[in-house]
Amino acid sequence: MNGIVYLVGAGPGDPKLITVGGREVLRRADVVVYDRLIGSALLNECRADAEKIFVGKEAARHAMQQDDINRVLVERAQGGKIVCRLKGGDPFVFGRGGEEALFCRVNGVAFEIIPGVTSSIAAPAYAGIPVTQRADDNFPQGATSFAVVTGHTKDDDAPPPSLPVADTIVFLMGVRALPKIVAQLLARGDKSSTRIALVRWGTTAQQQVVTGTLDTIETEVARSGLKPPALIVVGEVVALREQLQWFDNRPLWGVTVVVTRAREQASSLVEELETLGADVVQCPTIRVQDLDDYSVTDELIEKLSSFDWVVFTSTNGVEKLWKRLSFLGKDSRALSNAKVAAIGPATSEALQRRGIVADFVPQSSISEDVARGLIEVGVQDKKVLIARAQEGREVLEKLLSENGANVKTAPLYRTVSDHANADLVREMLRQGEVDWVSFTSSSTVKNFVEAIGADVISSTRNSFRVAVIGPITEQTARDEGLIPDVVSPNADVKSLAQTIADQPRTQ
Ligand code: SAH
Repeated sequence: MNGIVYLVGAGPGDPKLITVGGREVLRRADVVVYDRLIGSALLNECRADAEKIFVGKEAARHAMQQDDINRVLVERAQGGKIVCRLKGGDPFVFGRGGEEALFCRVNGVAFEIIPGVTSSIAAPAYAGIPVTQRADDNFPQGATSFAVVTGHTKDDDAPPPSLPVADTIVFLMGVRALPKIVAQLLARGDKSSTRIALVRWGTTAQQQVVTGTLDTIETEVARSGLKPPALIVVGEVVALREQLQWFDNRPLWGVTVVVTRAREQASSLVEELETLGADVVQCPTIRVQDLDDYSVTDELIEKLSSFDWVVFTSTNGVEKLWKRLSFLGKDSRALSNAKVAAIGPATSEALQRRGIVADFVPQSSISEDVARGLIEVGVQDKKVLIARAQEGREVLEKLLSENGANVKTAPLYRTVSDHANADLVREMLRQGEVDWVSFTSSSTVKNFVEAIGADVISSTRNSFRVAVIGPITEQTARDEGLIPDVVSPNADVKSLAQTIADQPRTQ
């Protein structure tokens, strides 16, 4: 049986700019063949068992020649595989997608094209430069056409022999040819005051924009040290950036924040920080793992209807309990006799998604206050089940038992250390590249110190600031010698991200 080749546009860099169709194919593919400008976030979408083939392409240093790429695509498809050929931007805009499709056709291999958001429009957009603009009082000259041109030709770095006539011209692959492009525009009569911008790594946290006129741009580029890959925008629309800049001036733009949460839990904090413009580096120090033996827990779950309260101390606890319920052929109705407590808003939301509205959620998100709340309602002789990590804090059990409750603990998962990114973060700390390290729980503090090393932390401590999510984490950080610079007023990730954004910048 023959497979198929999908030529998929990955978008310009921001992983959210792939199309819904493109992501579907990426998730389904047996083989993913990808270029250099594809971000790792997109590659995480691939199936774990998918074959990933990097084919490179860095001006003149191709990891694989085009003929070989063509052959790989066709051979894999002829072997019955679903092949996702993932290309930066749009596959047909200077992406050689046309050649690859023709090669499929000649060899009788089925192919489909999934267009992508091309950098030629998206990178200017993220720089606040619209490629066309209706003429009005604000912009009397208008821009009614745009052209996309390669600044790089086969034999030489020379621009193409004749430039198009358009109000806006976007040059791809043109950084090295900038002097020639400028000379050619001036030679054909464009004014030396014509606006021009270069956008490097557009749509990503590394985006760099340099603006000027045909007269000044070479000096500006030399001064900024801007290097490929970048594109060049020529035209009066460049001036609109002064009013429309939106991406690279957000509150945390240019600020690097380390997130120490377990990967399974990090996404909400990462998203909050990225929305504010931060460059987020994940340094998960723990990983959530299933237990080897659930016999004790399963026995308690079988008797759920006999409990008066079930207490959840984390979203993981919620997730894993439902996993066990489903394994035992049960569902949310198993909790129908019990009242339910959640430690904080995230845990309560996780319950709500499963059809359970928590009867009690303390304001503070701390265990002591869960206990206090329950004790206030009265726990004498009540049966309380605590769904939590194997190695959680014992304080809840202790306080509730002291007040007459009959407490049982259902261990649902364990956390193990995960030092996958520690080397990278240690090096970034040494280089002074980290602005903030954020902590969302006591365990993340302890594990971070263990993963990075107390010596590295103390020798680099002056170069970064520490943000923590509430009083308990603050105390742990102090105990570990990491005195927090800020503590978020509320114990949720939104508040933590906003607190970081509210601080004055150091440089
Ligand atoms: N098919 C791609 C273009 C491939 S040519 C597309 O539609 O976007 C590669 C060139 O595109 C680079 O040399 C650079 O000029 C430009 N480019 C690609 N991604 C870019 C980005 N994120 N920011 C700025 N320029 C980019």
